[in-house]
Amino acid sequence: MEMNRRDALKFGAVGAATVAAATMTGCSTKAGEMASSATSSAASAVGLGADLIGKHKVVIIGGGIGGMTVANNLKKKDKDMDILVIEKNDTFMSCPVSNTYIGKLEGMTLGSFIFDYAQPIQKHGYNWLQGEVMAIDRSAKVVTTSSGAVGYDILVLSPGIGYNYEAQFPTWSPEKIAHIKRVAPAALIPGSEHVILERNLNNMEDGDVVITIPSGKFRCPPAPAERASMVATFMQKEEIEGKVILIAEGAGFAKKPAFIESWEALYGDKIVFIPNSKVTDVDPDTKVLTYAQTTGTGKKDEDDFEIMKTETKTHKYEVLNLIPLNKASDVIGMAGLEVTKDTFGKVKMNGCSFQTKTDEDVYAVGDVVGHGIPPSGQTANWAGKQCAEEISARLKGGSYELPVKKAPVKAGNVCYSMVGDMPETAIMVTHDFSWNGSAIMGKGNVPKGPNGLYRQTGTAKALRDWYRGLMADMFS
Ligand SMILES: Cc1cc2nc3c(=O)[nH]c(=O)nc-3n(C[C@H](O)[C@H](O)[C@H](O)COP(=O)(O)OP(=O)(O)OC[C@H]3O[C@@H](n4cnc5c(N)ncnc54)[C@H](O)[C@@H]3O)c2cc1C
Repeated sequence: MEMNRRDALKFGAVGAATVAAATMTGCSTKAGEMASSATSSAASAVGLGADLIGKHKVVIIGGGIGGMTVANNLKKKDKDMDILVIEKNDTFMSCPVSNTYIGKLEGMTLGSFIFDYAQPIQKHGYNWLQGEVMAIDRSAKVVTTSSGAVGYDILVLSPGIGYNYEAQFPTWSPEKIAHIKRVAPAALIPGSEHVILERNLNNMEDGDVVITIPSGKFRCPPAPAERASMVATFMQKEEIEGKVILIAEGAGFAKKPAFIESWEALYGDKIVFIPNSKVTDVDPDTKVLTYAQTTGTGKKDEDDFEIMKTETKTHKYEVLNLIPLNKASDVIGMAGLEVTKDTFGKVKMNGCSFQTKTDEDVYAVGDVVGHGIPPSGQTANWAGKQCAEEISARLKGGSYELPVKKAPVKAGNVCYSMVGDMPETAIMVTHDFSWNGSAIMGKGNVPKGPNGLYRQTGTAKALRDWYRGLMADMFS
């Protein structure tokens, strides 16, 4: 029997690497009473395990994009500041641009997305604790982790997102949720989920790949459609027969006109968008996804009454990328902060600052922030720098006014999505940030290039440059 390339991959490449796993008013800070109570040094914390008990001036939860940016920039402001970063993983993995690894774009291997923490720790000299945060006691100002408990004067939260399968699929047992996470991972949280998704694609036979877009707020809104583009390019290159089916609870998705224009030109009818469809069940054994699709508006126009109806439908898939409802990381619940009442639960902020509304000694950056700005790596990096300025000014007894209070910040967020390969083309969205009197807001713009098209080869080059720049900012 002849073995084709995909069969060979199944037998030969299963062992893919697993990734190890002061008082604020409005926008200005007034100096507050800050006890200088740091007790441990970089040497005492780095490498320490279960017994670490110390107290630090600033404790940052999350060594992701937001948390690392705060830590690096606080140290740039004051090299003697006593900072501890708590992170559960031993390596950093980038979600931004990771879809190009799925698309097998030139030079984009798993290694392009993994960075070690040793370099920034050594360069900036902050304390580091590898451990999982299990509890936060704000009245005692203590964070309990799997590696010990630590005290803080100021706490910064940048723990990212969690998934809420329980709310979306209330009848699923914990075992079924665990199984689906394993066989059809969402791949929005850095780590082995991306590796599993890539392996599932490598091993697939002809058939459809289904990607689901959840309702509510979720991490990097263009990510599912960028992923659909990269899966389509992968299937084209590998000559895999089948379609990429994007199923959304809503009527549209981020940057939709730009994606649709690109897909029609690059992939014909290979990518199919199914709107207004709520995923209700998945049978991983038969590889069948069930969804309830609503059609019709229920509104009357001049002649007709358009009936609104919901029908249950099924789709057989070969590979499933089930992206469920997103929510703020459980760390936010542990802190007992006031959050928005939507399904995500964003942290309510104090005016336009990165201090939380609930507690003047607790700050937040990254995807959990309750400002009206997009949940992106670029925004987390921007917010991290602002947050570091705020905290640094506060500790020095001064004040800091966020630039957005004085004038709109042009392109505070720039988010690229790769849509094609050979030649690489990408689309982009920019957000100008402004202060509306109660929160920072972002206004999006999806530009076309000089040739009148959204997708541009120059934008693809800018995507790669942006990624190199962001990683250099954090890790070198
Ligand atoms: C596929 C994909 C593509 C994307 N593309 C782009 C892009 O092109 N451009 C862009 O700007 N953004 C992009 N993003 C979005 C970007 O990745 C996030 O917005 C960004 O990472 C948010 O930063 P954060 O600090 O809030 O969270 P993260 O970067 O996820 O960091 C959170 C950290 O907290 C740690 N943590 C969580 N819980 C605990 C705990 N209990 N104890 C200890 N540590 C804990 C985690 O391990 C993690 O390291 C993309 C995202 C995805 C999924």
